[in-house]
Amino acid sequence: MIKKDKSGKWTKENFKPFVKPITQGNQSKDSDQIKDPLDKFAIIDTGIKKKKFKKLRLIPHLSEDEKMMCYSFNLSLKDSQCVERCEYGKKDICYVKNNFLHESFKARKNKLANNFKLIKSDKFVNILKMEILHTKQRIFRFFSSGDFPDLDSMKKIIKICEQLPSVNFWIPTSRDDILFEYFEIKKLKIPSNAVIRLSCPNVASDMPQFLKDQCKKWKINYSCTTLNHKIVNCHCSLDSQDSKCGSCEKCFTNDFNAVYLIHNILSRSNARKLIQKRNDKK
Ligand code: SF4
Repeated sequence: MIKKDKSGKWTKENFKPFVKPITQGNQSKDSDQIKDPLDKFAIIDTGIKKKKFKKLRLIPHLSEDEKMMCYSFNLSLKDSQCVERCEYGKKDICYVKNNFLHESFKARKNKLANNFKLIKSDKFVNILKMEILHTKQRIFRFFSSGDFPDLDSMKKIIKICEQLPSVNFWIPTSRDDILFEYFEIKKLKIPSNAVIRLSCPNVASDMPQFLKDQCKKWKINYSCTTLNHKIVNCHCSLDSQDSKCGSCEKCFTNDFNAVYLIHNILSRSNARKLIQKRNDKK
């Protein structure tokens, strides 16, 4: 703390700099602690934790997506029922299902249960819109885990995208049935800042041609998975050490049909077994 003396002048004795300067004398000691220049913030008590805690109270329904360095809105696999209708869920290749530790935390379970209540309520659009504005970020991800539970939820999510045109939204989904209802039956449209990417229903396979055609017609993208490193077009799924997107934002852009390496070691092992079985049947 900087204090004034009795005459009202700032005293040098009381002055403690916020960041301790690295001088000749203390350089070796500090450089042992500071390996990365960005890491220096970790050893300074900036009160970031307190600020972060306060911020989290403003965004109780959002999660931090550490891989993409953005915020996301998620649902549990059970509530979105995706695990029961998708090959990844049925064959234990879903990376969310196989991330046992993360998904078993009580706080995580409570958050996802609250998120499901919220998406089903009339307050969802307004509350989520405010929380996204609080993040002050220009990209936002829906469904690091989970999926559209129904058509009504999809309509609400698209309404949020329409009302926040300066944010780019990425919405991965496996719900081709809901997309069909939205685009074909209801004849509804999506704004250009909503990037919907339909996941291929089959593990480690190319997207069926009729679904590629459908995606083109609806002006959305699709994604597939593979175990073949050579055809992957997402660098972070190849990097087993870091697995971070860095400055890449391809998932948030239109005209990007992604080919991801199957995430998670257990998922890859189960996918290999599935592919072996497929080959044996041929
Ligand atoms: S394509 Fe880019 S943004 Fe998408 S997951 Fe891979 S690294 Fe991240």
